Amino acid sequence: MSASPSADPKVGFVSLGCPKALVDSERILTQLRAEGYQVVPEYDDADVVVVNTCGFIDSAVEESLEAIGEAMAENGKVVVTGCLGKRAGLISERFPEVLSISGPQDYDSVMRAIHAQVPPKHEPFFDLLPAQGIKLTPKHYAYLKISEGCNHRCSFCIIPSMRGNLRSRPVNQVLAEAQRLVRAGVQELLVVSQDTSAYGVDQRYAAYPWQGREVETRMTSLVAELGQLGAWVRLHYVYPYPHVDQVIPLMAEGKVLPYLDIPFQHASPRILKAMKRPAHAEKVIDRVQQWRRQCPQLTIRSTFIVGFPGETEEDFQMLLDFLEQTQLDRVGCFTYSPVDGAEANHLPNPVPEALAQERFERFMAVQARISSERLRARVGQVETVLIDEIDEDGALGRSRSDAPEIDGVVRVNDGHQLKPGQKVPVLIEASDAHDLAGRLAPSKLNIINA
Ligand code: SF4
Repeated sequence: MSASPSADPKVGFVSLGCPKALVDSERILTQLRAEGYQVVPEYDDADVVVVNTCGFIDSAVEESLEAIGEAMAENGKVVVTGCLGKRAGLISERFPEVLSISGPQDYDSVMRAIHAQVPPKHEPFFDLLPAQGIKLTPKHYAYLKISEGCNHRCSFCIIPSMRGNLRSRPVNQVLAEAQRLVRAGVQELLVVSQDTSAYGVDQRYAAYPWQGREVETRMTSLVAELGQLGAWVRLHYVYPYPHVDQVIPLMAEGKVLPYLDIPFQHASPRILKAMKRPAHAEKVIDRVQQWRRQCPQLTIRSTFIVGFPGETEEDFQMLLDFLEQTQLDRVGCFTYSPVDGAEANHLPNPVPEALAQERFERFMAVQARISSERLRARVGQVETVLIDEIDEDGALGRSRSDAPEIDGVVRVNDGHQLKPGQKVPVLIEASDAHDLAGRLAPSKLNIINA
């Protein structure tokens, strides 16, 4: 199939994987639109289909292979990119007919393969682009990718072998993108990377000119500047290095959201060592308690793995004690599953699946109790809520404590007249283990967490 000379060339797009992959998809889509391509939702209408894959864990690999298979069956002209593209043999063995295979951030290869199949109608024309580029997220929030790759070598993870070592974007480029997004109406910037705390290490914290000043490519400098743009700024994938302490005062002052997403993964020093986690030796419990003293409204989100090879009942108990002591607000948990190519696959004493599942359930029961208690303590407060969508029961939004997709929501029972992207004061009236509900508050009431 090819485009008729008069019609706009059409591309189908399937985007899988994490927020970093989503940003890659957005860049490719932005370039496609700039070159006059139409992005279409049906395989039948497309001249070519791009599948941006994920290769993080085995289930993601399977999902990616299924998506490629579906695109091949429904359309037949398929360009594969993304993390799984690093394992080209796996793809070409199963789908020898795919047009091209490339790894993450290889935008040039993707565009070359599309051009070869269906040439662009005309040269890039800037006016075709909305100022903020093409976003896959709703227009009031956007992911801001500050670096690629990772310098760590966690034993369960193959991301560094797929995405390479840390490469930070110069700080003035990141800030210019953030400013464009905010000017285009984005209310919330979600800072993502593999390791946000390490931002700038590879650049030796080089300084760049930004608005008449020199700003260092460094997490603390970046966060301080982002805090002046007037949007909510949410930090993801932060490791508890000592310099993280420096962003807590900015959170206490309301410059950036009092929210830290720190993937702790475990609490037992023995397991953290086997996982080769960064900053595993820091005194995390003391630090968390000190952060909370400095910024009582701080929300901490984390993820954990239970059933890692060699995890004993004692290690697991340490993890439960850690939950009780740190009182984390938002927690995700996975049972360990081996990832093809990961070093941890060769560790001794694998935990039987049934035992890992039992630990997962015990873990989640403890966390559900902690989460319920913490949310209940917010009933009666007035909080600012960013509205995401309207439905027949009112509006759904998020407080400063909730990242999109991964955390809870705030239901605004009388929010039928609101619009996505509005920030409104809400009196919290009810809570459960994950979510809050309330109604619009008279604006003269004091807002906690404004
Ligand atoms: S910090 Fe560890 S888990 Fe995260 S990307 Fe780097 S190696 Fe993987």
